[in-house]
Amino acid sequence: MDNRYAISQYPDAAKVTHQLDELIKKPIYSIKPEVLKNYEENYFDKKCAKSKALIQEAKKVIPGGVQHNLAFNHPFPLVIEKAEGGYLYDIDGNTYFDFLQAGGPTVLGSNPPQVREKVIELLNNGGPSTGLFHEFEYKIAKKVCDSIESVEMFRMLNSGSEACMAAIRVARLATKKKNIIKMGGAYHGWSDQLAYGIRIPGSKATQAHGVPSFVFKHTQEFFPNDLKDLERKLRTNQLRGGTAAVMIEPVGPESGTRPVDKDFNKGVERLCHKYGALLIFDEVVTGFRIGMAGAQGYFGVSPDLTVFGKVIAGGYPGAGGLGGKKQYMKYLAAGIQAGEKIHKALVGGTMAATPISCVAGYYTLEEIERTNACQKAGQMGDLLTVGLQQLIDTYHLPFVAYNQGSICHLETVGAMHFSLNWHKIWTIPAVIEATSVRKKQMEYMGAAYMAEGLVTLAGSRLYTSAAYDEKMIKEALSAFERVFQEVAVIV
Ligand code: PLP
Repeated sequence: MDNRYAISQYPDAAKVTHQLDELIKKPIYSIKPEVLKNYEENYFDKKCAKSKALIQEAKKVIPGGVQHNLAFNHPFPLVIEKAEGGYLYDIDGNTYFDFLQAGGPTVLGSNPPQVREKVIELLNNGGPSTGLFHEFEYKIAKKVCDSIESVEMFRMLNSGSEACMAAIRVARLATKKKNIIKMGGAYHGWSDQLAYGIRIPGSKATQAHGVPSFVFKHTQEFFPNDLKDLERKLRTNQLRGGTAAVMIEPVGPESGTRPVDKDFNKGVERLCHKYGALLIFDEVVTGFRIGMAGAQGYFGVSPDLTVFGKVIAGGYPGAGGLGGKKQYMKYLAAGIQAGEKIHKALVGGTMAATPISCVAGYYTLEEIERTNACQKAGQMGDLLTVGLQQLIDTYHLPFVAYNQGSICHLETVGAMHFSLNWHKIWTIPAVIEATSVRKKQMEYMGAAYMAEGLVTLAGSRLYTSAAYDEKMIKEALSAFERVFQEVAVIV
């Protein structure tokens, strides 16, 4: 094992995919309805009364009651008032293990003082932003360039979504080609063009509600882990405007919810070279989580452009960035470059690269590096996953558990495993129907975990951080066990 990385053993993608194929053929195992009812009445209604009341008021002024998808929770979202290390605390005084980690940014755990103190110092001096250059804009750019071999230049942006938009704009300008190919099921933020083939591979534009279909004229998807399908698209595109870029999440769509083979990324790189397309790695989740050198360091790949988000600002706002080779990054600067007149990609953001996000990001990366936090978080992910697998075996459940370091997956219903691959019998309405039943049960499992003191990402993904230790993971596993004991066939 290379101890610079979070992944001690890469999962066997074919095996996991087979297990997930089997899972969605089986009846649904979930929390027993009477146990869920007990959680609703005796935990949520009684012990989370302040959250309940506040969310009821919030629903009057915030659509759905929360501002962020990840905060949805059955029977109602909880209001968190304190976060520290691996723990979250709600306004009713309940404590939780944090496996959501703000959706991924907090590899060090929540609110580490080493970062907080630097941010406070900055606020006391110059406040959060001025619009003019700040020393830490340079410092974070230098840190990213020093850490990741393919990144020669870096531009800080507001979010992963923005950085994905910037990446495809640069790719089109640099290559003068039109098409962008993404992996089906992958999430690259919520911009118009990339809302294609989201969640369900093969679903094309059908899930992009509110986006006019002409926007997708030059966006395509290929089936996850399928290099032959990618090559078919690259070849066809030679006759229809060429391929500007192939964009992938390196551990597989939705942070590895559909895992890819270990040599898949190298295969994509080879095809990009063959067809003259840029390779864009979306490392919004994996950057500085899989290792300081990114997932690209782990897989030994040199993408042309890399998208950053989440960990890049350590849980502080303004978490996005685009990095890459100089010959492409130059499209983000104005005017004449080395005697050559180039058009500049339209990329902006009043609040992009504020001193607050640069300071928070810089000290987060320094601390991750100093403490080898990616590897520590990965070890905790291994412990958690091994423990979950033991529980699955003990209780004879069809669930699937696997991890890529500190990105852990616990699939109880396989709601995210459906696809419209040509050899599968699924149609969009059938998938929507099948997944809506499964998603409901996934929410119920999420509620059961929550009532037992475990905050997960939508009931199926668990991020670990370096703030965990073996004792905490053991305690968390006992809480999972309390839920697993109350699981039965539901449908
Ligand atoms: N790319 C990936 C792989 C993501 O997981 C996400 C967000 O979860 C994004 C892009 C979008 O990032 P942001 O939410 O910062 O816009």
